[in-house]
Amino acid sequence: MNLHLYDSPSFRMACQQFDLVADFMEIPEAARDRLKMPKRSLSVAVPVRMDDSSTQVFMGYRVQHHLTLGPTKGGIRFHPDVTVGEVAALAMWMSWKCALVGLPYGGAKGGVTCDPRKLSLGELERLTRRYTQELIPVIGPQVDIPAPDVGTNEQVMAWIMDTYSLQMGHAVPGVVTGKPVLLGGSLGRREATGRGVAYLISRAMDTLGIAAQGTTAVIQGYGNVGSVAAISMAKQGIKIIAVSDAFGGIYNAAGLDLNKLNDHVAATRSVVGFPNGQPITNEQLLLTPCDILVPAALERQITEANAAQIQCRILAEGANGPTTPEADAILAQRDIFVIPDILCNSGGVIVSYFEWVQDLQSFFWSEGEVIDKLFRLLEQAFMQTLTLSRNKHITLRFAALSLGIKRVHDAKMLRGLYP
Ligand code: GLU
Repeated sequence: MNLHLYDSPSFRMACQQFDLVADFMEIPEAARDRLKMPKRSLSVAVPVRMDDSSTQVFMGYRVQHHLTLGPTKGGIRFHPDVTVGEVAALAMWMSWKCALVGLPYGGAKGGVTCDPRKLSLGELERLTRRYTQELIPVIGPQVDIPAPDVGTNEQVMAWIMDTYSLQMGHAVPGVVTGKPVLLGGSLGRREATGRGVAYLISRAMDTLGIAAQGTTAVIQGYGNVGSVAAISMAKQGIKIIAVSDAFGGIYNAAGLDLNKLNDHVAATRSVVGFPNGQPITNEQLLLTPCDILVPAALERQITEANAAQIQCRILAEGANGPTTPEADAILAQRDIFVIPDILCNSGGVIVSYFEWVQDLQSFFWSEGEVIDKLFRLLEQAFMQTLTLSRNKHITLRFAALSLGIKRVHDAKMLRGLYP
């Protein structure tokens, strides 16, 4: 199989994970490429009129990994490092994640190679709308449903919904999730990923017999996932001693005051310069001794270079793909409870699914109902993963990936191969 189109560190990593699990599950060679290779990918040139009247062309992508279980689902990333290979890896991880938690979706991901922090609001809106326009042939409530990811937010989702709806001639809220509540978004969607991360951390602590009071947490990435996870953990009595973002990190052994930190971030758009903490680098942050380490930023942060030095008892992967397979092999030799990404951050897509169901029915739920249903699905996936890992003496990541991959494999076998 020629991987040339998607060849990139993240796609190679996703394939490596898949191959290890496929060997363990004894999936026949003939079925592997069918499960692994993305079904569709679209590359688009996105011309945008900039504020200075020049035109800049950005590259955009959407990869739909498999169409076996329903429409495809996954976020849209605006980041300077986006490539089609990275998007393909993220789409594959979405497939295993949706299958693990039992959602009727295939995985997808989209991205535009751009730095949203360097765009004005007007430029960001024009970029989003033109990218959406280019995706019209491949998205839709029954086809592929985008959502937020790194560098995108509710406002971006509102522009996607509006652009798509204008083309259709009527409002189509179900084309995208993570929208503002007023436009058909779900209560609890914005908090869902971080809230889910904190829920699973508390389940991991129960499992290990660790009490929340007095435990410490370190969070890499203080975006939508990291900041909400921090608040939810603090409510449980966990002390957040260090956080970071793309610009750097801050540390306070006595625990960071999150209310003050959030005010600082709202005013300066970074955690850097927070007066009640000492500056630390992202590299130092990952090696800070703590009970709970939460990578909630980008892929491949925990590698063979630092996995042996990480000092935590629970590694809760808020990000997608933060740990390489080489690092996994090192962590497996150490006494670290890894809550793998496809389980740990699945709260986001779970509530996206609830949002889509609410949009299709035009019948909306209370936040309490959303949280209750979210925790129920997380609990089920957590217990299934833990049980399989214990029964088969495999890591939690291996167990989670096996469950997800098996469901997609079984579904493909039931549907058969046409013609
Ligand atoms: N971008 C998020 C993820 O990686 C959410 C995707 C969604 O809600 O569709 O899981």
